[in-house]
Amino acid sequence: MSYQIFSHVLPSASLGTQRIIKAHHFGEQGARPKVYLQAGLHADEWPGFLLLNTLLKYLKKADEAGLIQGEIVIVPVANPIGLAQNFHGYVPGRFAFSDGGGNFNRNWPQIGQQVAKRIQSSITGDVEENKVLVREAIREELKQLPDMTELQGMKKTLLALSMDADEVLDLHCSGEAMLHGYLPQEFEDYFKPLLGLLGAKVGLSELETGAASFDETNVSVWRELKGHYAHLIPWGCRSMTIELRGENDISDEVAEHDAKALLEYLVMRGVVHEEVTQGDSSKRDDSAVVYYPLDAMDLVKAPCAGIVCYNKQIGDEVEAGEVIGEVVNLMEDDVTTSRYPLVARTNGVLFARYQRRLVMCGESVAKIAGREHLAYREIGRLFED
Ligand SMILES: [Zn+2]
Repeated sequence: MSYQIFSHVLPSASLGTQRIIKAHHFGEQGARPKVYLQAGLHADEWPGFLLLNTLLKYLKKADEAGLIQGEIVIVPVANPIGLAQNFHGYVPGRFAFSDGGGNFNRNWPQIGQQVAKRIQSSITGDVEENKVLVREAIREELKQLPDMTELQGMKKTLLALSMDADEVLDLHCSGEAMLHGYLPQEFEDYFKPLLGLLGAKVGLSELETGAASFDETNVSVWRELKGHYAHLIPWGCRSMTIELRGENDISDEVAEHDAKALLEYLVMRGVVHEEVTQGDSSKRDDSAVVYYPLDAMDLVKAPCAGIVCYNKQIGDEVEAGEVIGEVVNLMEDDVTTSRYPLVARTNGVLFARYQRRLVMCGESVAKIAGREHLAYREIGRLFED
């Protein structure tokens, strides 16, 4: 039995408060492959909480039966700072109230250049040796990161738990959505089985979004070093952001489904022994997963403030020029002409839309996965806040 729980204390932000990051560890430390999972970095996105809680139950059983072969680290509640931002019953958990504000999943520290400097005189011709070398350098560089503020401490803690993992899965959700993933283009084939097991039909891939999100940061060092040393540096970490449908798609049934999919995936990667799923690999079918370039994703903007009414549902195929809904402007004098259309700019799948029905002018209210690059989508700035 190897199951251990560690509580990492964050710097106290204000007098008399103290928050913790709780990490559940399975398997021997250093066993491979290592997989890291977290939920709720955007603290207003909660389906991953129940999913990881459910997965923990399965892993605990597997651990008791001695069936954990690799290492698994699970942080079910990644952002206690955002969760505490409870404002009269609302949890605006996407942006930090303090520490300069900002989206919790943007501008994570990039340490690629420092790691490159640290290993430049010791790089070898052996890929596996280099992997170990880079991971050591990453650990050392992470120690240098500031942890003066609570947010800095949180970022440092989460990276220290995740950055030496072979795989990092960051669980999020959208307003109303189909299950989908955001991933680096290089990992399309690698993560297809996981998306297939989860039942995803849409994956959005990109080379670099420019967002410096948590999942990208875990990959960024390897990408940077590959730029210098090409094949001498492996992908020591692969990561993906999984959007677990809509914010209200939370139930035991859904969590069970997704936890079993993740467990099956962990078996597939050799992290957990196949005995836990009785060697049943029949569910591994990824033929329904389709990848779309992130720069071809249409963000449909509200043409005015008002109440949004959709006439297309999540999962519907739409065509460029098609009206997918309307925004009703309540300030118009003439109520017969107060509706403004939401128009798709690409052929594709409507895979996500706003949950809130009151919208501001210019807000992105729907996402359509298309195949053709859209001129207005700026490479390097592919995510909005
Ligand atoms: Zn999110």
